[in-house]
Amino acid sequence: MKIVRIDCHVLLEPGYDVGATSSSQDDIVVEIHTDEGITGLGESDVNPWIARACIQAPGTHTMGLGLSEMLIGQDPLEIEALWQKLYVGSAMNGRRGAVIHAIGALDMALHDLRGKALGKPCHELLGGAVKKSITPYASLQPEVSSFPAYRRSIVEWALRAKSIGFRAAKIEVTPCGPYAHKGLVATHAEMTEVIRDVRAALGPDFTLMVDVQYAFPSAETCMRAIESWTEFNLFFIETPLPSDDLAGYARLAEEQAIPIAAGEWLATRYEFLDLMDRGKVQVVQPDVGRVGGLTEAKRVCNLAEQRKLRIVPHLWKSGISIAAAAHLAATTRNCPFIEFLPDELCESSLRKELVESGLQMIDGEIPLPTEPGLGVTLNREALARFKREAENVSASFFA
Ligand SMILES: [Mg+2]
Repeated sequence: MKIVRIDCHVLLEPGYDVGATSSSQDDIVVEIHTDEGITGLGESDVNPWIARACIQAPGTHTMGLGLSEMLIGQDPLEIEALWQKLYVGSAMNGRRGAVIHAIGALDMALHDLRGKALGKPCHELLGGAVKKSITPYASLQPEVSSFPAYRRSIVEWALRAKSIGFRAAKIEVTPCGPYAHKGLVATHAEMTEVIRDVRAALGPDFTLMVDVQYAFPSAETCMRAIESWTEFNLFFIETPLPSDDLAGYARLAEEQAIPIAAGEWLATRYEFLDLMDRGKVQVVQPDVGRVGGLTEAKRVCNLAEQRKLRIVPHLWKSGISIAAAAHLAATTRNCPFIEFLPDELCESSLRKELVESGLQMIDGEIPLPTEPGLGVTLNREALARFKREAENVSASFFA
């Protein structure tokens, strides 16, 4: 079997808001086609125009080859060898960042393709499942732009998540810092009050996480702001500091009691080694697409398991990534949860409509996938609609 064509779909949510702290408003979806008619599907969480350019750009020398060009004509079942070929061949332009995130979409598609070709779900080919089901946690970020409205909504959303069957939820508390959601404004003390409200509403036994999305400029500021948060019994605090402040992360991990989680933006196991060994985080959060695909995500899980760290994959995209994270989690012991944007509590039509059939939560759990590959089919009508939206925006942007 040989790879004959790679389609890159640049997708955009109608009415997307550049002021929203939500990457579910855009998407790059790739389809890898073969001469035997089997097709693999993948996506990644990165600006889709940038990712498409990374994939389609022609190579110009041995250290900067084109991703698409390197794959055409190759055997798609040789996934690990292809990952290495792409990483080495693109190294002068890649190694980290957008090129790796784009490789992630391609690698995800190759895993889907291999599963379909061999008639097995991806988890069986990734080392085999070590659990009977996968537990999703609900990621909650109300689409409001005033802090009082946010404070009311987040309690309602958390209760709704619990009533739908979730056993864990994460609240996005981002009313300050460089990525404040939709212009929300509040003090650190008001952030504390939000968490207090949600914990009181959910009761003591529900697993609760907090994501502050890089809100604090330094470890000192953070430790002052979160001093009282120990009473809320948080499973973790996510990305409290700027991504590159590894010394700050290490201080937080060593000088206060709440587990620290990070890693959603990182590319390759090498960045995770820094995060784990220098940043000393207790919970690592690879995004399957961004880190470099299922191949690289599995390597990160193995390294985290060796260090006895928890793995809770980041996920803010469509049913394609939900499936990829579920297959990964199925094979990973130290992975108690995967992130999940519930259909009922998510405003993104792209997130909800792109996939026609995918994995569903039943009684708070996602049963082990049984379909070959990722087990996901695209909604072609939705794909065309989101593609048109992206084309309209790029046409007016470049006009
Ligand atoms: Mg996050």
